[in-house]
Amino acid sequence: RPAIVWFRDDLRLSDHPALHDAAQTGRPLLCVYVLDDKTPPLRPLGGASRWWLHGALAHLKKNLAGHGGSLLVLRGPSKDTIMALASVTHAASIHWHTRLHENERAQDAQIAKALSTESIDVREFCGTTLLPPETVRTKEGGFYRVFGSFWKAFRQHDVPEPLDVPQGITFHPNAETLLPKSHLNEAGLLPTKPDWAAGLRKTWEPGEAEAQEHLQDFVAHAMSHYATGRNLVAREGTSRLSPYLAFGEISPRQIWATIISKGSHGEGSETFLAEIGWREFAKYSLFHMPQMPTRNLSAKFDALKWRNSDTDLKAWQQGQTGVPIVDAAMRQLWQTGWMHNRARMIVGSFLTKHLLIDWRRGEEWFRDTLVDADWASNTTNWQWVAGTGIEAAPFFRVFNPTLQAQKFDQDGDYIRQWVPELKKLDGKALFEPWNAPEDILDRAGVTLGKTYPRPLVDLKEGRERALAAFRAL
Ligand code: FAD
Repeated sequence: RPAIVWFRDDLRLSDHPALHDAAQTGRPLLCVYVLDDKTPPLRPLGGASRWWLHGALAHLKKNLAGHGGSLLVLRGPSKDTIMALASVTHAASIHWHTRLHENERAQDAQIAKALSTESIDVREFCGTTLLPPETVRTKEGGFYRVFGSFWKAFRQHDVPEPLDVPQGITFHPNAETLLPKSHLNEAGLLPTKPDWAAGLRKTWEPGEAEAQEHLQDFVAHAMSHYATGRNLVAREGTSRLSPYLAFGEISPRQIWATIISKGSHGEGSETFLAEIGWREFAKYSLFHMPQMPTRNLSAKFDALKWRNSDTDLKAWQQGQTGVPIVDAAMRQLWQTGWMHNRARMIVGSFLTKHLLIDWRRGEEWFRDTLVDADWASNTTNWQWVAGTGIEAAPFFRVFNPTLQAQKFDQDGDYIRQWVPELKKLDGKALFEPWNAPEDILDRAGVTLGKTYPRPLVDLKEGRERALAAFRAL
């Protein structure tokens, strides 16, 4: 009777507590992934995530084959599929990592109950966060709503050491023949026509080994100046680990242990640990506030009169707003499936404040186009940027995109890379072409309204409109 390991958003072999536990039973292992596009109300994956998932599963399959095993990829509703597999194989136990949203937990609880009635042992572990979300509590036993206090309390706890890949695992001999399996290539995860993923293929290689390379690269080249380098949009000053973390090709405990083992790098390593802390806080918030993905955390914003402009939304999505730093960032997202964090804040503020468009429209677009789209991080950050959450960032803090560009893209390299039609402009003209003298634009071959759009909104007026809507609450 085999032990089933159900892989979900933890597509790795090292530091995998569920796999470890299953291996310790001494039973033959059956590793499975279920592609479930059916079960409501869990939200479907966006296009870029589906592309990444394909690569991550292919790598996991290969890694398992290297240990003499295989990965069964099945399609269908999670519960029926897992129950059928358990029944056909007479499984003795099933091992998985806890998921955090209440809908996910409800689904898992249902499956666990059905399995238990068949006398199958269900074993669940914390595998996607540093600590289980119930661990960090306020004095009154509640949960923290503000990152600073959460982080202070979190640091009082020890983070468990990561686990190695278990040795000497035996695998179920006929795993591949048990149920009609889905061929990964037929699972419809990759785009066909149009093939929009060329930029993603050029930028990324999913996989557990690649995740470790990114981490080592970051520690060697960027960590010591991360505290300042992380804000410069044209520089590779961050780790780019986010998609690997989103699919669990690396665990946060592995990152934590690596950074701690390097000793203190002063501000750089502390700031980086705090960013890993923001990820943890996002998951913690999703666990404690399941309404976060769809509802304003602060209910007073329910009365805010958002603008319903499909034209403006589309211009924002396509990087055609006429504000160079915003367009550069939106095009980086479309072409690579990733956007720099500073740029995410700038475009988020522009959408929700200058264009006064609901943060949920922005969250939706990010969810579809980011390779690191994560239910918790995306929604926490959109609520934070919009100022509709309960974190410290207020609604009336409106980023001025040109000042942000002057500060964080000082030489304009980021804008020139992603908005090449402006590449012959310099200095202020590059940051705000609408204020540049005609002759400068002429010499650079720029005609506003023709080769590059005029701004969708006057920045001052947009700001005033947002503040007025806020005051009306
Ligand atoms: P690094 O700077 O190297 O940071 C290391 C890791 O820390 C990241 O990989 C990430 O896991 C975590 N991290 C860093 N900043 C944050 C943050 N603000 N919130 C949560 N975790 C953080 N991140 C996602 O992983 N998925 C999302 O869907 C997502 N949506 C976002 C939406 C908006 C509007 C904003 C402002 C930010 C969003 N972020 C999201 C957070 C952040 O922008 C990315 O995690 C970061 O840019 C990823 O690049 P990196 O791995 O090089 O980050």
